[in-house]
Amino acid sequence: MTLHAPLSGRPVLVTGAAGFVGSHLCDLLLDSGHTVVAMDNFSTGDAQHLAHRDAHPRLSVWRHDVTDPMPAALQEVDRIYNLACPASPAYYQQHPVSTLLASTLGAWRLLELAQSSGARLLQASTSEVYGDPQVHPQPESYWGHVNPIGPRACYDEGKRSAEALCYSYARERGLQVRVARLFNSYGPRLRPGDGRVVSNFIVQALGGLPLTIYGDGRQTRSFCYVSDTAAGLAALMESDWEGPVNLGNPREHTVLELAAKVLEAVGSDSPLVYRELPTDDPSRRRPDIAMAQRVLRWQPRVTLEEGLRRTIEHFRDRVPCSPTAATTQSAAAPWSQAPGGLITSCPPSPMGRPAVTDAAIASAFTTVL
Ligand code: UDP
Repeated sequence: MTLHAPLSGRPVLVTGAAGFVGSHLCDLLLDSGHTVVAMDNFSTGDAQHLAHRDAHPRLSVWRHDVTDPMPAALQEVDRIYNLACPASPAYYQQHPVSTLLASTLGAWRLLELAQSSGARLLQASTSEVYGDPQVHPQPESYWGHVNPIGPRACYDEGKRSAEALCYSYARERGLQVRVARLFNSYGPRLRPGDGRVVSNFIVQALGGLPLTIYGDGRQTRSFCYVSDTAAGLAALMESDWEGPVNLGNPREHTVLELAAKVLEAVGSDSPLVYRELPTDDPSRRRPDIAMAQRVLRWQPRVTLEEGLRRTIEHFRDRVPCSPTAATTQSAAAPWSQAPGGLITSCPPSPMGRPAVTDAAIASAFTTVL
């Protein structure tokens, strides 16, 4: 895999830049010499994820919602990475309308920008386009098995629409588009209250709380460390390959296996508690990455054991609850989820807090446009 240095000197736009994957992608692009415009509406993104780059001469941070008209100054960009969309099932099921609009209206606005500026656009899509797959592992040629009206539809169908929009612009108007289908990514900067399985288990294990297993825990996922995900995105953007590409780790684990690995890595003896399986929760998921290996020369490098170790280190300072405090916590801890994947409220849940204020962003950055 080759990381490409900037050729044009024109800026790269990253939307969803203060999010989990987006902020790691910004780091990679800055370290590769790019000038980056980092856009986020800070609904689920966190200004702190970019704060370590404050005053970087090639980074500007813009608070902007992708569903709003794009600022004229963006005509300068020549690469657009569109990562703007909530990605946690717990969060997006609470906000289905804005989730769907972020993927559809947001993708449309950015494709219009790509057309007028002559930029290439990479759409961050998802393994959720395969739904609860009936083909295993999932190659890019699989059309998927998605419930179009279920609680996950806002995310799954939003991403499928965004892919369809990308290829419609490519066919009809000759745009250069790239589509990455990301399988479960994890690592530092997952939010403790995010509700996803890796962050939930780590926070629970560190806090001495029971690990919440949804269903019987025999459903599978394949977990890709975030630096591998970001590297795959950058490689795809600069490749000549125009079809969708799976980016994920082909090692498949049951949720129970993941729980055991987290408990071992944390050194915790937290028990397991079983909760109802959320509606339409996919039973198996593993990427076929032959395409990425062939056209990008990309494959994940970080093992689950090493990735969990790094992620746990990151969380140690940030969990909202010490082991002592955990003994007084009820089941409604900030990071706990009710059956069906919805977060139960328990202030100060990161999910429940208001969108970050301008003052909070200003305190994280000296330059916010
Ligand atoms: N899960 C779980 N306990 C949790 C959170 C999630 O057992 O505390 C399960 C969830 O039901 C799913 C898998 O872990 O089968 C991955 O869930 P996640 O929300 O991380 O992402 P998804 O792959 O469903 O988008």
